Amino acid sequence: MKAEIISVGTEILLGDILDTNSQYLAVRLPPMGIDLYYMSKVGDNLQRLSETIGRAHKRADLVLITGGLGPTEDDLTRESIALTLDEEMYVDADTEQRLRAFFAARGFTFPERNVKQAMLIPSAQAIPNPRGTAPGWWVEKDGRFIVAMPGPPAELSRMWEVEVAPRLAQLATGDVIASRTLKTIGIGEGHLDEMVSPLLKSENPTIGVYAKPDGVHLRLTAKAATQEAARRLIQPMEEELRQLVGDAVWGVDDDTLEAAIGAMLKERALTLATMESCTGGLLASTITDVPGSSVYFKGGYVAYTARMKMNLAVSAELIERHGAVSDEVAADMARAARASADADLGVAVTGVAGPDELEGKPPGQMHIAVDDGASPQSISYTYYQGRAATKRRAVTTALALLRRALLART
Ligand code: AMP
Ligand code: MG
Repeated sequence: MKAEIISVGTEILLGDILDTNSQYLAVRLPPMGIDLYYMSKVGDNLQRLSETIGRAHKRADLVLITGGLGPTEDDLTRESIALTLDEEMYVDADTEQRLRAFFAARGFTFPERNVKQAMLIPSAQAIPNPRGTAPGWWVEKDGRFIVAMPGPPAELSRMWEVEVAPRLAQLATGDVIASRTLKTIGIGEGHLDEMVSPLLKSENPTIGVYAKPDGVHLRLTAKAATQEAARRLIQPMEEELRQLVGDAVWGVDDDTLEAAIGAMLKERALTLATMESCTGGLLASTITDVPGSSVYFKGGYVAYTARMKMNLAVSAELIERHGAVSDEVAADMARAARASADADLGVAVTGVAGPDELEGKPPGQMHIAVDDGASPQSISYTYYQGRAATKRRAVTTALALLRRALLART
């Protein structure tokens, strides 16, 4: 089954909102065996919208539309489908009744404009939408389908999951796609590609190597008649990859680095404390994004001035001699965090978030250290892609260094 997605709304074309609905739908199609060939974004304009729908309907078995089902004059998805298919719209009495009841139940008067949302065409059925007023449209004509769903993501997701996906699953007959992502850190993209190159020729599953903010991902994708069959193709290849890459793999699929580290700390019954300059608490915030992190995270200090650092027993002499942005001070901050919190491990970040230089050091210069009381580890680099990216990269690097320290302990 060939599909096409159309997102409707002038807001999207103006850049006021990001079209996340397309992505929401796109990731859900391959596992169902539906091939997506085109995505379009079109404004609230009757002529351009019906032109876009008409073209899609001609070349695809399934057209998925989101947006433009509201009650206002610029919501034109229904009108455009009717125009494309050359059908007359009529008010569906059942749906109108339900809409009036929806408003009455909330103590609101019914705006007559909303009658529009009760409209249908002969080829369309209304799709229920308990999260809003606009029902969707399920249209079947000439053996092809057009499905119109509301723009608000919460309404779309419920309608997709409960109403649309189950119906499409009955219709789709093609091979399905399953995928598995192995997440690695510590080996560069090029090196990793070389390491796994004996397997890159594989056609089913295929392997993709992608550099991401949390390391390099190896993505295995297999095609088969069922999800189970596709996963069976993936499994032996995953084993082989793990053999080749070793403990650089820290997680799979939706795993996060902070959760992976949390699990390692828990398993080893170790505790952690942080001291941050430059990242302003982002490291502590990321660590505590994980539910249950209070079991192993004792707390974090945000210390910018030399005075603040010295209050936490960071050496004044080291700051004086090397500057606050240095390997020596990062290491001492990690030690001081660990000691002051009475934790097993201390992690520290100091660096230049930019855009201006500091102590004559360039934006993006970063010093990160882990202290476990036995064999301290540190890392430093200079890499600048703007302030926010610099802070995020420092946090990821700190987590990666922490992982390395934890692996070294066992
Ligand atoms: P509409 O039904 O087109 O008037 O859209 C109503 C609201 O839904 C918009 O103001 C957005 O907040 C949201 N929305 C519509 N289309 C999208 C989309 N493609 N991606 C994400 N949000 C959307
Ligand atoms: Mg609108």
